[in-house]
Amino acid sequence: MATGSTLKFVGIDQAYPAKRDADARNKDFQEIADRFAVPKAEEQAGRCSQCGVPYCSVHCPLHNHIPDWLRLTAEGRLREAYELSNATSTMPEICGRICPQDRLCEGNCVIEFSGHGAVTIGSVEKFITDTAWEEGWVEPLVPGPARGQSIGVIGAGPAGLSAAEYLRTFGYEVHVYDRHDRAGGLLTYGIPSFKLEKPVVMRRVERLKAGGIVFHEGFEVGRDATMDELRSRHDALLVATGVYKARAIKAPGIGSEGVVEALDYLIASNRKSFGDTVPAWDGGSLNAQGKHVVVIGGGDTAMDCVRTAIRQGAASVKCLYRRDRANMPGSQREVANAEEEGAEFVWLSAPEAFEAAVEGRVSGVRATRMRLGAPDASGRRTPEPDPGNEMVLQADLVVKALGFDPEDLPAMFGAPELGVNRWGTIRVDNKTMMTSLEGVFAAGDIVRGASLVVWAIRDGRDVSDRMHAWLKAKAARERVAA
Ligand code: FAD
Ligand code: SF4
Ligand code: SF4
Repeated sequence: MATGSTLKFVGIDQAYPAKRDADARNKDFQEIADRFAVPKAEEQAGRCSQCGVPYCSVHCPLHNHIPDWLRLTAEGRLREAYELSNATSTMPEICGRICPQDRLCEGNCVIEFSGHGAVTIGSVEKFITDTAWEEGWVEPLVPGPARGQSIGVIGAGPAGLSAAEYLRTFGYEVHVYDRHDRAGGLLTYGIPSFKLEKPVVMRRVERLKAGGIVFHEGFEVGRDATMDELRSRHDALLVATGVYKARAIKAPGIGSEGVVEALDYLIASNRKSFGDTVPAWDGGSLNAQGKHVVVIGGGDTAMDCVRTAIRQGAASVKCLYRRDRANMPGSQREVANAEEEGAEFVWLSAPEAFEAAVEGRVSGVRATRMRLGAPDASGRRTPEPDPGNEMVLQADLVVKALGFDPEDLPAMFGAPELGVNRWGTIRVDNKTMMTSLEGVFAAGDIVRGASLVVWAIRDGRDVSDRMHAWLKAKAARERVAA
């Protein structure tokens, strides 16, 4: 429904909240964008043309009611906008911060195609729910009437937390197990604070704890209990453990001191953001201060490492990627942010060897130039070596950020009968989201492979419905049998 408060895209230019100056933001770990002031949010929301078929919502994995909450925002009805936005998402302010909107909602906004620039949906979404938190509109989690059934959730990332929230509102006793000492998964220990400040994640976790969800932090399934033990404790289980096996590089010198894994590096930095003591950071092995840093990879993890190294005071930061800018998997927005902050991209280059001049410590990366051949199955052009074109990049810290595969969960969990596919992700029935084990469900990256937060939230929402249906049927069967 279009009203006088919307359809203003012709007269009002697209605007994102101002980014802090690169020279200021590259010295701290605070988020780089300011928040919209109220009039600006209303003005930008009012650019929406209230499409009859809103492609923004179609391409949002949560199918958020975007035009409706944009209209309410444009009319100054922020509380109602919040309630509508919250109806389809457990973490709207988090998605508003870190979704790659250019590939999802904003990338499919019709105003973008008409040349006026997309409605800045993510920034408005963030604004609405941040305001709701400040105004006290975010309600406590209220559990539904107790059903006398208990659920175990393995993994406290966005998939596990979203499922836990919905299942608690359905009235189940919910226990969440996570091997880390804090919940949140990659929201807490992967994604850096300059994209997502940690109190934003922790207030969500605290709300779930206050709603009676029991968290078992520092509890690693496979070490502290087998899957069978957990199955006997609960009526149903959800596996939402994400993907954590770092992809390897095979090259001479890869074992040199100073060649580190991206996630080890990011976890250390994120722990410092919490104020933790981190010996490997304090001792320098996972700290880029004063070092020449080379990050290998072209995805979002690589961008996060590059930008973390800059903030730690590295002497230089280079990102080595085997394809060119147009063929990289990471967000162009993040590349632009990294460049503004001082990173140098060495496109079309791949590591050949890691030089270690003194006592096994890395001193340089020998790289070969690449050229792009024919497109592969995904449509991206395949890189191939361009012989006779070598270079050496000075490096005393090398961060490997080539992506992640699943760990061997059947072996880790002591559950060889847990079905996985040839990539190691858990096999689920598409309709029920149940694994090969009765009453054991799975969701998030461990099913999809490395993906996005918003998809993990969607999976958490979907699997909670499937588990609810299965548990109701189980309870009915047990009543009949009794
Ligand atoms: P995870 O978030 O990985 O959570 C899984 C949880 O399971 C973890 O807490 C882990 O400790 C726990 N766990 C694992 N094994 C066990 C076990 N045996 N016992 C107990 N607990 C266990 N996506 C975006 O949309 N935007 C971004 O900007 C973005 N940036 C990213 C940056 C980095 C560095 C990385 C690595 C990923 C990024 N992603 C981003 C992807 C996104 O974080 C993931 O797709 C999402 O977190 C997956 O959610 P999940 O709940 O499936 O798993
Ligand atoms: Fe866009 Fe992500 Fe929000 Fe959906 S959840 S509206 S894709 S920012
Ligand atoms: Fe509004 Fe763009 Fe969505 Fe259309 S596609 S409803 S203009 S945000």
